[in-house]
Amino acid sequence: MGENREQETCCLENGAGVCGCTEDIPSRPYRMVLLGAPGAGKGTQAELLCEKLKTCHLSTGDVFRAVKCRDGKELSPAMKAALDFMQRGELIPDDTVIAMVRDRMSYLSCEYGFLLDGFPRTLYQAEALTEMLSSQALKLDAVLDYTLPPEEVIARLSGRRTCRSCRATFHVIHKPPRLQKICDKCGGELFQREDDRPESIRVRLEAYNRSTAPLTDYYSAKGLLLTISAEGSPEEIFNRTLLALKEKV
Ligand SMILES: [Zn+2]
Repeated sequence: MGENREQETCCLENGAGVCGCTEDIPSRPYRMVLLGAPGAGKGTQAELLCEKLKTCHLSTGDVFRAVKCRDGKELSPAMKAALDFMQRGELIPDDTVIAMVRDRMSYLSCEYGFLLDGFPRTLYQAEALTEMLSSQALKLDAVLDYTLPPEEVIARLSGRRTCRSCRATFHVIHKPPRLQKICDKCGGELFQREDDRPESIRVRLEAYNRSTAPLTDYYSAKGLLLTISAEGSPEEIFNRTLLALKEKV
């Protein structure tokens, strides 16, 4: 498993944007987009899906983090531009995000398929993705949208506690520390981040819903949208996902 992870990371960090997969090719490649509100557990589902379907996971969050630690010389013009926006604390504009994904075009045509996470975020980006794929005679198989009632999102996220010293995260119900308010790993003090307060979560959720509604409409009209309930355990959600995929693809 550890080795696979490393290869997946290569896909993202390789300067040329060349996919580094070497495993046997699966019976069919899946090309998918993941959507889901914060707290819906999309990241866990992405990991499980990659394992099961052997697709490459392209998370723009990972790409952006990689950009931050990369030496300036290795950055493509799009990545340099993105870094400038990030350093100014600004949102990365659509065209820059699209250029970064375009840098990784070979990744999108990987014969293992792909799982996009964090892209597209806007309708404009979604239309650009459709164009990029059709220029390679490719198309999406499905868009997985993980949904969770707002109250459930708030219950999940507001239980999170973070260590002041090592940044490890715990959850008061799902992953409690051995000692109350004390980090298992380093003994540091656990606290609730500003972002994890119910009021902040509500604001984030509203922003998410506003920006995602046009996307889900777009993919629904194309017959690609699979809405999956993110209630229950990661295994239950994953089984639901496989079932929905089996019916669709
Ligand atoms: Zn700690």
